[in-house]
Amino acid sequence: MQELMIVKLGGSAITRKSSEKPEVNHDTLNRLAKEMGKWYSPEKKVIIIHGAGSYGHVIVKKTGIHKGVENPEQRKAFAETQRLQNELDTIVCKALINEGVPAFPLQASSTAVMERGRLKKMDCEVIKGLVNNGIVPVLYGVPAYDTVQVCSILSGDVIAPYLALELGAKMVIHGTNVNGVYTGDPKKDPDAKQIPEINQENWGQVKNALGLSADTDVTGGMKGKVEEAYELARKGVKSRIIDITTPDNLFRALNGESIGTLIR
Ligand code: ADP
Repeated sequence: MQELMIVKLGGSAITRKSSEKPEVNHDTLNRLAKEMGKWYSPEKKVIIIHGAGSYGHVIVKKTGIHKGVENPEQRKAFAETQRLQNELDTIVCKALINEGVPAFPLQASSTAVMERGRLKKMDCEVIKGLVNNGIVPVLYGVPAYDTVQVCSILSGDVIAPYLALELGAKMVIHGTNVNGVYTGDPKKDPDAKQIPEINQENWGQVKNALGLSADTDVTGGMKGKVEEAYELARKGVKSRIIDITTPDNLFRALNGESIGTLIR
């Protein structure tokens, strides 16, 4: 068995994130499933986590459930978001299974316990057992039970480092819609420069640059992703942020190519 790899498929790539209604980007999803299928073999150990994109952010922002659940409308939205994101997970797993990847849908919020927005614990026994037997668990960022505010958002960018530490992964690949981390938001600032590597030496500068780019969603956007990855790097697990909207990039990163931004 090879070393465990954790792959995050960003909601910005697999869904049409700015859409007002839940919408899958089937072309990108099917191509990514093909790349996974080309790389996968039963001795590979891999966990896939995907984002929610337009399957989550619209309803969450509209009802405010990321800040807590207090009224009937929010209780309904909390339940409906679970169902919606479950639906997206089923679509993702179907695409992967079609390409020969034994993708096993798993809902993190069925065992995750949050406390004031922080993940306190999550059961990993089933995930471990599946991975050790050549099966590929497919989890997703999702609103989860919070002991203080009933609901808070368990981001895929938080599930990834949690599982990396619990299961001893050495690398997390974050697939998104930009070629890694930049000195500013590359979608808004044409002068933003790509940063090939983030480490202890340039962390101060990078942190300042990220502070200036607005959060794009309720999970903290690129800023949240990089902060989680940097904290994980201090514990010995590297991350790579890559653009998976470009064909072949996922396959190249899975094979260890140095593309995007490395966080170590
Ligand atoms: P995903 O849904 O794939 O997890 P996010 O939407 O959370 O991705 O983050 C990716 C987005 O972050 C990009 O589309 C980009 O516009 C934005 N962004 C903001 N600041 C930066 C930055 N400094 N470097 C790179 N991307 C940034």
